[in-house]
Amino acid sequence: MCPLPWTMPSLDRIATTNAAPRAPRESCQAQPPGLDDLLGEFVRFRQVFQIDQVFRQYRIESSLAQATMSAPIAMDTRTPQQRRRIMQAVKSRDTKPEMVVRRCLHAMGYRYRLHRKDLPGRPDIVFAGRRKAIFVHGCFWHRHGCAKGQLPKSRLNYWKPKLEDNVIRDKTRLEELEDLGWQTLVVWQCELDDMEALAARLQDFVGAL
Ligand SMILES: [Zn+2]
Repeated sequence: MCPLPWTMPSLDRIATTNAAPRAPRESCQAQPPGLDDLLGEFVRFRQVFQIDQVFRQYRIESSLAQATMSAPIAMDTRTPQQRRRIMQAVKSRDTKPEMVVRRCLHAMGYRYRLHRKDLPGRPDIVFAGRRKAIFVHGCFWHRHGCAKGQLPKSRLNYWKPKLEDNVIRDKTRLEELEDLGWQTLVVWQCELDDMEALAARLQDFVGAL
């Protein structure tokens, strides 16, 4: 390498790292550039350096701005994110209602036990520490007051006593559990039509995480 200053690498090499290095000057014996050339080179170098600095500063500032802007947004979108997780967890239409409720609770971060046989009515979902139990009922089988819960028009002699027995049994089970100091919640199959409302209801019942 020739030590003379006018053999310094081209500014283009400094500005763009991927550029191929320029061929060195043919000879160190070549005529040195005049003062004007050196000044021009210096001015160009300073411009490139300043532009580079400006860009670097801009990148730092914009990434800082993004970081500070995204923090509160992330906090605000917590609920929609959670909602999306819930929706993803329960999107399958063919899933049994109980499974949908379980997935919803799980997506909200709750952990629970299933079908505790030592409790009256074997509740579908049990929060033992909180002494809270959830039953998930099909509207038809447990005679909900909604459209799905109406008695069938045919074979009424068969269905009516059968379904009314279910209602009496459900009531007794809930009373037994409550006598043991448990709080109970019945989730109806038709409530799965509005998962957001159901999620809010579940959260109200179970309590904070
Ligand atoms: Zn219903």
